[in-house]
Amino acid sequence: MSMRGGPMGRGFLTEEEKANRPKVTGSLLKRVFSYLIPYWKQLALILTAIAASSLLALYPSVLTGRIIDEGLIGRSLPALVRLILLSLGVTLLSSLIGVGQNYLNTWIAQHISFDMRNKMYAHLQKMSQRFFTANNQGDIITRMTSDISGVERVITSTFSSILSNAITLIAALVIMYRQNWVLATIGVLVVPLFVIPTRSAGKTRWSLTRESQECSDEVNGILNETLSVSGQLLVKLFGKEKAEYERYKSANERMIKLNIRESMAGRWFFMIIQTFSSIGPMALYLVGGILMMKYDRNISVGDITVMVALLSRLYGPVNSLLNIQVEWIRSMAMFTRIFEYYDLPVEIENAPDAVTPDSADGSVRFDHVGFGYEPERKILHDVSFSLKAGRSIAIVGPSGSGKSTIINLIPRLYDCQEGAVFFGDYDVKKLDLSFLRRNVGIVSQETYLFNGTIRENLLYARPDATEDELIEACKKANIYEFVQKQEDGLDAMVGNRGLKLSGGEKQRLSIARVLLKDPALLIFDEATSALDSISEARIQEAIEPIIQSRTSILIAHRLSTILAADEILVVKDGRIVERGVHADLVKAGGVYTELYETQFKKALEKAEA
Ligand code: ATP
Repeated sequence: MSMRGGPMGRGFLTEEEKANRPKVTGSLLKRVFSYLIPYWKQLALILTAIAASSLLALYPSVLTGRIIDEGLIGRSLPALVRLILLSLGVTLLSSLIGVGQNYLNTWIAQHISFDMRNKMYAHLQKMSQRFFTANNQGDIITRMTSDISGVERVITSTFSSILSNAITLIAALVIMYRQNWVLATIGVLVVPLFVIPTRSAGKTRWSLTRESQECSDEVNGILNETLSVSGQLLVKLFGKEKAEYERYKSANERMIKLNIRESMAGRWFFMIIQTFSSIGPMALYLVGGILMMKYDRNISVGDITVMVALLSRLYGPVNSLLNIQVEWIRSMAMFTRIFEYYDLPVEIENAPDAVTPDSADGSVRFDHVGFGYEPERKILHDVSFSLKAGRSIAIVGPSGSGKSTIINLIPRLYDCQEGAVFFGDYDVKKLDLSFLRRNVGIVSQETYLFNGTIRENLLYARPDATEDELIEACKKANIYEFVQKQEDGLDAMVGNRGLKLSGGEKQRLSIARVLLKDPALLIFDEATSALDSISEARIQEAIEPIIQSRTSILIAHRLSTILAADEILVVKDGRIVERGVHADLVKAGGVYTELYETQFKKALEKAEA
C-alpha cells in the first residue's frame, strides 16, 4: 500500500482555494480545450496507449490464477513455463507502452506550455507601464512560471492518471464480477475500510506540510530581505546583525520542529492501516475457501488467488479517483489565472491607421494636456508648450510637481486623458509606436543596466554599432576614460544592475547608450540624488555639447544644466506656472526665484567651493 508521499496532500483544498473556487463555464472549458486541439492526434494516441497499458498491466494478475491451477496444481511444467513467460512478456509490453506514453505526454505538455508561455510573454510586453507599476513583480513571474508549470502537470499527470485509474478500476471490477460475484462483492466492501483511514491520515500530514511550507517561505523571506545587496547594507548600517540572526534562528527552529512532526505524523496510523490491509485478502481466502469446500466445487484455488491479486489493484485507483474533484478545481483555477492575464486589455497599442513618417525632427508640442495616473487624481493640468527642432527646454519644479510625468507622455509610456501631445506633425496616439519610441531617447534618473559587460549594455541600443562608434559614444558621454581604466575595457562586467558602477558612471554610460541610439529627441532626467561635484562636472561636460546640437528636454536640478537650455518651463502642482529665460525668471520673484534661492544657488556655491 502506498500513500503517495509528498503530493498526497494534493488531495485536499486549502481554505483559500475553497474560497476562490473558479467558476467553470462552457466558455472556460472551450478555451482550455482550444489549447489541446492542435495536438488531438497525439492525444488520441495517448488515450489508446493508456487504455492498452492499463489493461495489459491487469493481465498478469489474471494469469496468476492459471499459473496456480494449470501449472502448479495441474503439475504441468510446460504449462507453468509458458504461463510465466506470457506473464513476463505482458508486463514487459505494458511497461514499454508506458514509456512511449510518458514520452508523448511530456511532449504534448511541453508544447502546450511552450505556446502558453510565449503567448503570455508577448502579451506582457504589450502591457503599459501602469501595469508594471501597479503589479507586484513576484506575482507576474509566478504566473509566468508556476501557473504554467501547473498546466504541464495537469496534462502529464492528472489527465493520464484519471484515465488509467478509471480504466484499471472498471476492468478489474468487471473481471472480478465475472469470476465470482460473491467474492467480488466482499472485495468491494473491504475497499472503503482501507481507503477512508488512508485519506484522513493524509489530511493530517498535509496540514503539517502546509504549515512547514509557510514557515519555509518565511525563512526564505528573511534570507531574501537580509542577504540582498541593499538589505545587507541596511542591516550593517543599523547594526541589526544580531537581531536578524535571532529572527532567522527562531524561524529556522520552528521549521525543524514542524519537519520532524510532519515526518512522524501518520506513522502510527499507518501501522494500524497496514494491519487492516491484510483483512481484505484474509476475508477473501476465508469466504472463498468456504465456498470452494462446501458449495461450489467449480471454484479453484487459482480463482481465489486472482481475486486477491485484483483486490490489491483497486486501492490505488479508488484513492486517486477520490481526488479528481480537487485536481479539477485546482487545474481550472490555474487556467483561470492564466486567462485573466491573457485578457488584460492592452492599454497602449498602435492605432489601426498608425502612420510611420519617413523621418522625425524631434519637435514636440503639448496642447492643453491633462493627465492622471488614476482617474480620480489628476496630476497634470492644462499643460501647453512647444519645442522646436534643434532647440532645448529645461523643465524645473519642486519634487513631485509632475516633471517626469510630462516626459512619460511623449514616448507614450502613458496616454494623456485631455488635450494632445504632438511629436513632429502628428499626435503621438496616431504614430506608429515603434517609430515613436525609436525616435525618443530617455536617460532616466534610475539608470537600468543589465548584468553583463559595458559593451553588451551599449549594444542594446544598437546591436550593429561598430567598435569605433562605441568608443565615440563613450567619449561623448565622458565615460571613455573610465572604460580605458578597466582591465577588460569595454568587456568589463557592470555587475548586477550595474551595481559595480557609481551613480555618475552609470548615468554617463546610459548617456553613451542613448547617443548610440541617436534619437531625434533626447530627454535627460537629471539625477536629483547628490553626486559628488567631480561626477557632476563630468556629466555636465558630456551633456552640454549634446544639448547644443540636438532637440532635447532636460529635467534639470542644477543651474548649469538649466542655463544650457534655450527655454525654461517652471512646473508646480502639475501646471506650467512660469516660462522664459533664466535672467527674466530670476527677477520675476515667483516659483523660479524661490527655487533659485533655495536650490540652484546653493548647488552652484557648493560646486564652486
Ligand atoms: P521628482 O523631481 O521628485 O522626480 P517629478 O516632478 O518628476 O518629481 P513626477 O514623478 O512626475 O514628479 O510625479 C508627479 C506626481 O505623480 C507625484 O505626486 C507622484 O506621487 C505621482 N506619480 C508618479 N508616478 C506615479 C504612478 N506610476 N502611479 C501613480 N502616481 C504616480
